[in-house]
Amino acid sequence: MAISIYQLGYKKLSQVIFEWQLADRTSLLALFIVIEVVSHWLWFLSVWCYRGAADNYVNMALLYPMWLGVTVAAFIFWWMVGHLVNIKNDYQRLLRWQIILVILYTIYITSIIVVVGYSSLVAGVSLVGGAMLGMMLMRRRYVWRVFLLQIILILLAITSPYFGIELPNLRQIPVISPLVDVYDGLTYNEIMVIENAIASSSFSKESLGWEHISELQRSSTFFWRSTHVYLAIPKAIFMVYTFRQLLLILDDSRKEILQHANQDELTTLDNRRYGLTKMQQTLAEIKDTEDYSVMLLDLDSFKQVNDNYGHKAGDQVLREVAQILIDSLSTTQAIISRYGGEEFLIVLPNSAHDEAMKIAEHLRQSVGQYLIETDEGDRFKVTTSLGLYTLTSDELIVIKQRHHSSAEVSSFRPNRFGFFKSRQLNSNHPKIVSSSHSQQQLPKDICQYLISIADKALYEAKGRGRNQVISANDLLAEEKQDIVSVKSSYVT
Ligand code: GH3
Ligand code: MG
Ligand code: MG
Repeated sequence: MAISIYQLGYKKLSQVIFEWQLADRTSLLALFIVIEVVSHWLWFLSVWCYRGAADNYVNMALLYPMWLGVTVAAFIFWWMVGHLVNIKNDYQRLLRWQIILVILYTIYITSIIVVVGYSSLVAGVSLVGGAMLGMMLMRRRYVWRVFLLQIILILLAITSPYFGIELPNLRQIPVISPLVDVYDGLTYNEIMVIENAIASSSFSKESLGWEHISELQRSSTFFWRSTHVYLAIPKAIFMVYTFRQLLLILDDSRKEILQHANQDELTTLDNRRYGLTKMQQTLAEIKDTEDYSVMLLDLDSFKQVNDNYGHKAGDQVLREVAQILIDSLSTTQAIISRYGGEEFLIVLPNSAHDEAMKIAEHLRQSVGQYLIETDEGDRFKVTTSLGLYTLTSDELIVIKQRHHSSAEVSSFRPNRFGFFKSRQLNSNHPKIVSSSHSQQQLPKDICQYLISIADKALYEAKGRGRNQVISANDLLAEEKQDIVSVKSSYVT
C-alpha cells in the first residue's frame, strides 16, 4: 500500500513526540524558531526593497536597527541549534540551554509584536501556537512559565502608553499625523479605530472595487494588515495542522491502549477480562424470550504438544485454533475469548441448546480435522473437549424473579441435582446484598454461574475420554431422571 504524504506527516510527528530524545525535539523547536526569525528578516528585506513607498507608513529610522537586531537574533538562534550537538548528552546543560532558548525567544517575539504595532492576531497566534508547539517539543514546565511571562510582557506593552512610556514602534501613521499630539496616549486599537474611519471616508463608494485596490494598497492600513497576516497566518496554519495531527495520534494511541488491554496478544482474541465484560453486557441486555449458551473449549493433552513439538509449535496451535474458532463462528454473534492457557470461552447469546450443540460439535470436528504444519516440518492434529450449558429463557425468568425479591443467588441454582452438588458449585458464590448493588451484580453472578456449570461439563468430557462435547443440560436431565427412578423404585 502506497504511503501518502499525509500518512508520512502523521507518522513523523508521532515519532518526533514519542520516540525522539529530548535534545532532538528541542533542536527541532530551535530550528522552527530560526525559520520564523528568517521569515521576519525577509519582511524587513521586502520593506527595504519597497522603501520608496513604504516610508510613508514605516518608521525607516527604526527599521535599520530593528533589522540588525533580527539578523543578530537569527544568528544567535542558529548558533544555539548548532551548539546543541555538544551538550546533547549532558542533561543538566540541556535543561539550561532550553531555559535560555525559551526566554530569548519570548523576549524576541514580544519585541516583534510590540515593534510591528501590537496586533492581537500576531500576539494570539504566537502565544497559543508557540506554547502548543513548545509543549510538544520541550519541557512543559518551562513552556508554561514563559507562556505566562509572555502574557505579562504583552500586557505591559499594551498598557505602557497609559503610563507615559513610549515604546519603539515601526508603524508610522501618516493619515493621523494631525493627531500626533494625542498619538502618544493612544493604544493600538484606538489608533486603528481612527485610521479605519479615515480610510473608509476616503472611499466614496459603499463597496470596494478593483479600481480602489491600488489606492488601498498604498494605504497604511492595508500594509500593516498584510504584515500582521504574513506574521500570523502561516504560523497559525502550521500550529493548527500540527495540533490536528497530534489529536489523531492521541486517538490512535488510545485505541491501541484499549486494544492491548482487551486483546490476547498471542491469538488476537478477546482476553479473559474483556470476554467476561462482554458476556456481562450481553447478559444485562438479554430478553426474557432468549436462550443463552456458553461453552468452554479445552485442547486435549496440550502439554504433550509442547513436550513433543516445542513451545513455539504450541503457540502456533493456539493461534490456528483461535483462527478456526473465528472463521467457524463468523456468521454468529459469538463472543470468543481466550479464557486460560489452552482454554477458550465461547458465548452464544440468543442461541438455543440444540443449535449450540450443533455449533459445538462443528467446532470439535473442525479443530480435529485441521492439520498443523510447523516450520520444523512436524505435522499433527489436535483434539478438543467442550462443555456446554444453555440457560433457557424460562430459567432466566425464574432467576430474575428471585433476584427481584432479593433472594440469594444460590437459591436459583439447580443444586437439587447431584451433578452440581458433587462439584461443590455453591460453596463460593456471593450473596446479593442490596437491590441497587444486585442490579449490577446479577449479570456478574449469572456469568460466573454459567461458566462454572459449563466447566463441570468440560470436566465430564475429559473424564469420559476427551475429544467430545458434553451438555450440562443433558447431564442435569439425566440426574433428574435418576432421582425420579430412584424415588419410584422406593415407592414400588
Ligand atoms: P487436558 O487434556 O486434561 O486438558 O490436558 P492438557 O495437557 O491440555 O492440560 P494441562 O492443564 O495439564 O496443560 C496445559 C498446558 O498448556 C500446560 C501449559 O504449558 C500449556 N500452555 C498454556 N498456555 C500456553 C501458551 O500460551 N503457549 C503454549 N505453547 N503452551 C501453553
Ligand atoms: Mg487441555
Ligand atoms: Mg486447560
